[in-house]
Amino acid sequence: MPRHTRAGLAFGVLLLCFSALAWAGDAPSAPNSDPTYQQLRNLGLGGEAVAVGNLTLKRDAATFHLRSGTVCFVAPVQGKVTGAVFIGDGNMILDAPLAAERASLKLLTKEEEFSEAFTQAVFRFTDSTYDEIKKAGSPASTGCDGGLLRSTMDAMRHDRVLKWNLEGRLLQDVLSPEPGAFFLAFVHGKKYSSKEIFALDPHGAPPLILPVAPEEVEFLTYDENKLGVWAAFHLADEYKKNTAAGSQKNALVHIEHQQLDTIIEKNANLSGKAVTTFVSNVNGLRVVPFDLFRTLRVESVAGKDNQSLAFVQEGKNDDADFSVVLAKPLAAGEEYSVTTTYGGKEAVMNEGNGNYFPVARENWYPNSASSSLGEYTAYDMTFRIPKGMKIAATGSSLSDSNDGGQNVTVWKSEVPQTVAGFNFGRFKMEEAKLAVPEYMVRSYANEEPPDWVKGLLRATSPNGDLPTQGSHLGAQVALGNMDTTGMIKHALAEAQVAVPLYTDYFGPLPYKRLAMTQQTACNFGQAWPALVWLPICSFFDSTVRHSLGLDFGDRGYWKVVAPHEVAHQWWGHMVGFNSYRDQWMSEGFAEMSASLFIQLVEKNPKKFAEFWRDERELITQRNREGYRAIDVGPVTMGYRLNNSRTGNITRDLIYPKGAYILHMIRMMMWDGKTGDQNFKTTMQDFVKTYGGKAATTEDFKAMVEKHITPVMDLDGNHRMDWFFNEYVYGTALPSYNMTSAVDKDANGDPLVSFKITQSDVDKDFRMTVPIYLELADGRTVGIAHAQLNGNSSVEGKFPLKGWKNPPKRALINFNYDVLAAN
Ligand SMILES: [Zn+2]
Repeated sequence: MPRHTRAGLAFGVLLLCFSALAWAGDAPSAPNSDPTYQQLRNLGLGGEAVAVGNLTLKRDAATFHLRSGTVCFVAPVQGKVTGAVFIGDGNMILDAPLAAERASLKLLTKEEEFSEAFTQAVFRFTDSTYDEIKKAGSPASTGCDGGLLRSTMDAMRHDRVLKWNLEGRLLQDVLSPEPGAFFLAFVHGKKYSSKEIFALDPHGAPPLILPVAPEEVEFLTYDENKLGVWAAFHLADEYKKNTAAGSQKNALVHIEHQQLDTIIEKNANLSGKAVTTFVSNVNGLRVVPFDLFRTLRVESVAGKDNQSLAFVQEGKNDDADFSVVLAKPLAAGEEYSVTTTYGGKEAVMNEGNGNYFPVARENWYPNSASSSLGEYTAYDMTFRIPKGMKIAATGSSLSDSNDGGQNVTVWKSEVPQTVAGFNFGRFKMEEAKLAVPEYMVRSYANEEPPDWVKGLLRATSPNGDLPTQGSHLGAQVALGNMDTTGMIKHALAEAQVAVPLYTDYFGPLPYKRLAMTQQTACNFGQAWPALVWLPICSFFDSTVRHSLGLDFGDRGYWKVVAPHEVAHQWWGHMVGFNSYRDQWMSEGFAEMSASLFIQLVEKNPKKFAEFWRDERELITQRNREGYRAIDVGPVTMGYRLNNSRTGNITRDLIYPKGAYILHMIRMMMWDGKTGDQNFKTTMQDFVKTYGGKAATTEDFKAMVEKHITPVMDLDGNHRMDWFFNEYVYGTALPSYNMTSAVDKDANGDPLVSFKITQSDVDKDFRMTVPIYLELADGRTVGIAHAQLNGNSSVEGKFPLKGWKNPPKRALINFNYDVLAAN
């Protein structure tokens, strides 16, 4: 590969001159130099203004009434007018197309109808707004304050929350020969907030607070004290046509292949050269947006025949979104490759003692701008890291060699992947070969702990000078003995158990290997195709974590970090998700998979019940803001449920409740004779059908319906609407009470009578509740299901013909079968 030879030379030069970039060759082009982009970036009002009266602008679910006032237009760029300032008496009505979205708006506005009043608004657009307003207006006698336009441009560039390159988005449509359909309104609201944005983009609404694409319409407030996405949904006609799905692909391009050549120096500086091959999804594609970490500065972009291309990338502390301007438009279906040369510090952190942390997680290379795990791309990667270090990356390793002062490894994706990643450092490694499935598991941990842990070790050693408060003896002992390489065996053993177990339940993976690696970040883990990052703090015991003030709560995720992350090989990577609405399945299913792991490895069966009790506690406890996760919204609203009103609540919803939803399905499908077979068949069918694709909540529901059992078919129509409406799309939480008595019938056989009461639900709530018997010998067995409707009770009797030893009692929720308040 001649490119590598050249890179090697470039790197030699680099060591002498300390340049930030290691790749040389292509003629560098200055960022942001495209003249049309410059015009948009420096745009002002153009002098054209109209007076308006009773003008209605309908933009999907939003209706803007401009009752009276003046509209001033921005200067045209390439003959296209992309903005207007309104001053006068205006009103905006938002009528969301989904019941859940209407309910959430009602909760936030405390009003029946979302109706905002304003005297100022700024509209940015590439649709027909200019023509519409101009046609309806009459010559204006006054002008507008150009400062209003400028302040919205500044907010997009510098506001801590927003920082999104609006001009980069407008440029896509201004340079395209096709008509645009983008619309965004900054509304200076009088009722709800002075910092409101309504946005509509047929290629996915902008990720201003968090990504909501592929949904095209959103309303949000960006006031730091009142921050959140209030509503997001698909276009109205997509609901009519039944195409409003989380798996919808409306991005401008699909990336087919990435050739990534990456050099990471000892000081953690990263420099890369990416050859990105994509297919246009639209006609007239001139500007291609990518997701690249803000401190990785682009030096040059080249197109075909090494032609230098213009690109957009503003300062790293501003709206640094990277896009490439193509020399001529592409048609839908046309393939093209761009070569991006980039580099910088801060994308990877040097944590000391051979520990490195890749801060730029999914965007250390020019990744797809649609930031989900629903796009599958093939990768060829070469990494050059300092000699003596080891790297584990996604895909399979083709070669490992030394080239001068560098360790050079080459990697190739076995199948198209959702994302590419790596972990490296002065690692020790151990490996184990699995026979069934045929699999290579490797475990990596650093020889020495990172600086910050070393600091703690010093502080807790007898000679350290940590204040006595907090220096528990337990912490001293445990940390004093902490050896990061001891983690290797533990992680290896967990993977050796988890991979065959999950393969048995969910079916085989397309990957043939898995690397478990230690990462220095304390508070999260992450899974990649064939690679897992385990947080170093998950290896500390709970006493140590507590005494260090690193208390995340030892429930749920923290008990099962490794089995949870291994399960993401199936949930998130093999079966992807394309929308925030379906992320609950990735996190919830991974968490539920970990319960299978606990059930298998823990000798004490109480541990399994304890796990579910903890999960229930997470879902139903009140947070600092006074909210219970179960109440704030359905799992299908995902991270949108985090807002300044309800606090950081999503994690305590989508992980444990997502897990509970799948657990309840498992419990309903469980059969006394065949055990988990129904459940396994369902999950294997789901993985087989959606492997290498993104699955939606609705896809999963259809799969459960395909394998529905008689006990689950409460409506007799082979549909699971009743269950999904209650627990997936809804926020129901029933309470149960059970009493039972054991007597003898006329024949002297044991007779169990019971009464189950269901309460705290609405009249349509229904549930099928498994009933268990606690036997004389201490075992507990499932015996029947009771169906309960609304707030009601059922009573019954079980004659146990021929039973010599009467059972102790009947009980419900023995396996936490139903998510309930008690
Ligand atoms: Zn996870």
